[in-house]
Amino acid sequence: AKYEKNTETIFDKIIAKKIPADIIYEDEQCLAFNDVNPQAPVHFLVIPKHRIPMLDEAKDSDSEILGHLMLVASKLGKQKLPKGYRLVINNGKDGCQSVYHLHLHVLGGRQMKWPPG
Ligand code: 5GP
Repeated sequence: AKYEKNTETIFDKIIAKKIPADIIYEDEQCLAFNDVNPQAPVHFLVIPKHRIPMLDEAKDSDSEILGHLMLVASKLGKQKLPKGYRLVINNGKDGCQSVYHLHLHVLGGRQMKWPPG
């Protein structure tokens, strides 16, 4: 693997409130905060508090949290982006993943393009 599976990422520091983030939602299992480098007028991330480095590392036992992340993304998306939005999960190098703590990107506030390129 080209990443350190057991090394904390910046997102662990955000979860622990050791570094600030613009948090828009939090519960026992997950956290949502605005992306520091937004790619759309609205761009936030939904992450599990328990660290799964990437989608490909998710286990059968993670199915509940995976579903929860999607539902939280949908609840926030419906609220903030009633005209629609896009969910993205970057997985690995070719997926352009840069932070190895699983996260759902929620993007919207403009007409998105398809295919994404
Ligand atoms: P990836 O490329 O791994 O799918 O996405 C990582 C995302 O995390 C990027 O969109 C990047 O802008 C965002 N990001 C990286 N570091 C920070 C940070 O310290 N705070 C916030 N709010 N977002 C971050």
